[in-house]
This record gives sequence, structure tokens and C-alpha cells, in this order.
Amino acid sequence: MSPIVMKFGGTSVADLERINHVADLVAKQAETSPGGVAVIVSAMAGQTNHLVSLATGAAGAGVVGENFDDEYDVIVSSGEQVTSGLLALALRKRGLKARSWLGWQMPMLTNDIHGKARIRDIDGEAFSQAVGSGEIAVVAGFQGRTKEDRITTLGRGGSDTSAVAVAAALHAERCDIYTDVDGVYTTDPRIVPKAQRIEKISYEEMLEMASLGAKVLQTRSVEMAMNHRVPIRVLSSFAEVGADNSGTLVCDEDEIMEKQVVSGIAYSRDEAKISLLGVSNHPGIAADIFSRLAEANVNVDMIVQADARGPEQANMVFTCTERDSELAISVLQDAKSKIGFESIVVDRDVAKVSVIGVGMRSHTGVAKTMFDALSAKGINIQVISTSEIKISVLIDSSYTELAVRALHTAYGLDAES
Ligand code: ADP
Ligand code: ASP
Ligand code: MG
Repeated sequence: MSPIVMKFGGTSVADLERINHVADLVAKQAETSPGGVAVIVSAMAGQTNHLVSLATGAAGAGVVGENFDDEYDVIVSSGEQVTSGLLALALRKRGLKARSWLGWQMPMLTNDIHGKARIRDIDGEAFSQAVGSGEIAVVAGFQGRTKEDRITTLGRGGSDTSAVAVAAALHAERCDIYTDVDGVYTTDPRIVPKAQRIEKISYEEMLEMASLGAKVLQTRSVEMAMNHRVPIRVLSSFAEVGADNSGTLVCDEDEIMEKQVVSGIAYSRDEAKISLLGVSNHPGIAADIFSRLAEANVNVDMIVQADARGPEQANMVFTCTERDSELAISVLQDAKSKIGFESIVVDRDVAKVSVIGVGMRSHTGVAKTMFDALSAKGINIQVISTSEIKISVLIDSSYTELAVRALHTAYGLDAES
């Protein structure tokens, strides 16, 4: 008898009324789950943003690095402590046995990369026993601790990853991610009203969708689910208790009969384009630049290198998140004379739009459709990158919604109205 893991995001626990509704959903689940129930909660909607602004305000603008980030995690992780206690109380009020578990209590062990720590292990003997005994465990998502006993957080949206990690550790039957939409859609339903709910999506496609900006699931949660073969279901926390709420199942590709050429479209505005101009071009230059960035834990995404004014000089253009861009620039500026380049230019008014689908492996013309649709709207492409199952372009961010809608139509994904 395996337990069930349920996760509720910020809007699902936004106030006491919503928390009471969540308690009803959990109580109903507990009736039919003899293997036990573990619930992971996020902070109340907007709370983490508020805590982030308090932390950055206290530290002063432009602060990056260890001295700031370890206390940043203490502050921003606190929203989840509140909701875990509140939900445990709401469950007790319904006569159920329940208790809250903070990251350090389980413990959810992570590395020490503050602000985006990775889970190493859940060393949770007492935790598993509690769940097995029928006590509902209400886990504060998003937070962990290092082996030196410092609090960490798992990056924005990290409660999804907490949930999948708990599901993997408990060998749960499934990890149900309750949110404010009733499943994974062909694209963000908030910007394309004609987006359609997908019944089943493969881990691989969901991984691309998430990493390319569909924030309905945090990327690492999908990666972890794929590695540990945890089935994820994304569904609405706003449905009535007992209502039909099948959501979207994230599963193995083999379980999906009908494969689309393009399954979905994702976008991300959290992008910065950094151009290193006039780099002295010699073997090892890319290795030098990108190993410095890797050492500073900057996640680099798209990369383009092109000759500039002849083969001795190159321009190196890459993208990273806006949060990382300040750090990336300071790392490169500090090593300017060692690397050998003329100047750095940063553009934060860019967005990445991507089309994703396993069917791309066997179909041609997918890129052509994308480029035609964008050019028909007069949208200029700045950088292109591809993989086996996705094509991404970097564009001026003011065209993001226009681009997503145009592509949704071009690939025949619009729902019939
Ligand atoms: P939670 O607080 O529950 O974790 P999030 O805000 O992180 O919720 O994720 C849910 C949101 O993800 C939805 O409100 C929706 O706007 C957005 N989203 C983006 N892309 C998609 C997609 N392809 N399918 C469904 N939702 C999406
Ligand atoms: N509360 C955290 C955030 O807003 C984690 C989460 O919601 O998953 O990023
Ligand atoms: Mg989320």
C-alpha cells in the first residue's frame, strides 16, 4: 500500500478559506488512501515575493554572494512554515491526525547553493513511519537544510520539487500537483484563451515545457519524477470535493497513443542576453568563459559564437536568467584582462519562445512553420537554438504574447470556439 502525495501551490492556500477547502480535499483523499497521505504546501500567494523584497531591501541593492544568500534563504523560506502549520490545524479541526514537518525536521538534505539548492537526500525514517502510521504529514515545501545545518531554498516554484522528492522517498503511488489551472495546457491559458488541456504528456516534453518557461511545474520536479519514475498528475485545487478532476498525467512516452508533432508552446521573459564583444579568438576561449560562469553557478542557456572583424576576434553571445545576469557580468568583468575582450553589452528586454513536441523527431518543416509565422507578424529573431524535440527563439520581449498566439494558431493547437 503506497502513500499518495498531494501538493498545493500559493493560490491554493492563499487565505484561510482556501486552506479549509484544501483540508477538505485532503480529508477526502485520506479516506481512500490506506498507505497514508503526505501533503506539501507552498507559501500563501504573493508571500514569497514579499519576503524576497524584504530580504533584498535589508541587504541593499545589487548584493549577490554567500553572505547575502544564506540569510536570504532563512527569510524567504518562512512563508511555507506558516501554511504548513495552518493546514495541519485545519486537518486536526476535522478530527484527523496531522502534523507539520519543516525542511530541517524531515530532514530534506540539500547542497549549499543558497537560493537554488538541489536536494541530495531525504533521510526521513521518522517521517516515513509517521506517514505509514496514518498521520497526515504536512510538509513545508521549498525548503531544505545543508549538512552544516543551514536553511536552503530550492529556487522559485521549488515546492513542486519538494513534492516529487517526498513522493520518490515514500515510493508513493502518485504525486498530485494541485494548482490554479485544471491541468497542463498547450500553452499558458492566461495568455492564449484558446489553449487546450493536454490529457497525457511525456516526461520529456514536460521537462522541455517547464525548462522553457511553462511555470506550471518547476523543471527539477519533472527531472526528478522522470528519474524516479514518479507519475505526476496536475489538477485544479478549485474543483469541488469529489468532482471529476482528471487533470493532466505526466508519464512515460509509451503510455501515450497519439503523438503530436508540436504538443505545446512555452515562453520565458526571465531572460537576459549578454554579448561579449571583440573576444580574442583562440582555442580554449569558450572553455575559459563558460567555466568561469559555471564556477559561479550561472546557468547559461543559448550560446552563439561568431567571427567579428575577421577570424582573430569573435563575439560571444549567451543568455541566462535575469537574476543570474548581474553575477555573470561581474564575473566576466573581473576577468576581463585574463579573458581578453573589448566590451560587454546586456539586454534584459528579451524573451524566449519555444515550440515543443516529440513528433519533431520524425517530421520535417517544423522550423519553417515557426519562422514563417513569426515573420508574418514582423517579429525579428535574435538567437535560435534547437534540440531533438524543441526549437527556441529569442525575440524582443514586447512581442512575446503576439508570438505565442501566432505559433499556437500556426501549429493547429487552437481549441475550436
Ligand atoms: P502554483 O502556485 O500552484 O505552484 P504556478 O503559478 O506556479 O502555480 O503555476 C500555475 C500557472 O502556470 C498557471 O496559473 C498558468 O498561468 C501557468 N502556466 C504556464 N504555462 C502553462 C501551461 N502550459 N499549462 C498550464 N499552466 C501554465
Ligand atoms: N513559495 C515559493 C515560490 O513562490 C515556492 C513555490 O511556490 O513553489 O517560489
Ligand atoms: Mg508553482
